[in-house]
Amino acid sequence: MTKTDWVLSPHHNARTGRIQLIVLHCDASPSERATLSWLANPASKVSYHALIHRDGWVTRIVPDEKRAWHAGKGEWRGHTDPNDLSLGLAFANKHDGKEPLTQAQLDIAQAVVQYWRQRYDIIEVVGHRDVAPRRKTDPYLAPNFRLEEYA
Ligand SMILES: [Zn+2]
Repeated sequence: MTKTDWVLSPHHNARTGRIQLIVLHCDASPSERATLSWLANPASKVSYHALIHRDGWVTRIVPDEKRAWHAGKGEWRGHTDPNDLSLGLAFANKHDGKEPLTQAQLDIAQAVVQYWRQRYDIIEVVGHRDVAPRRKTDPYLAPNFRLEEYA
């Protein structure tokens, strides 16, 4: 069973679209604590629906039904506001091209994606780079990230 807690971020608003996309991220931070603190900081204007810690713990941050602020400007299948249609799932990972994702993270990410697929009509799972290729590279610098594992 997945171990989870909640650290709510104020950075969310109402969705106008239906949940149909999962966007995977790396938080580009050396510490889960720093990331959760940043997501709660009004200056950041950033949030995810969930953060997967290096040890496999999952922190829920924004309720699924709310629009979290993780993807920013982007494009997916003609939609220009990916946040409106998606769930944002972040790996705790420095995203420095060196630090791999842990096996616990890879296992739990599969479980979280499967959990969401059972609840919502998910059309696709993508990396952040796929919806914002000119601005973002995550999560692809994590050496063992393989998008096809979530297809
Ligand atoms: Zn990202």
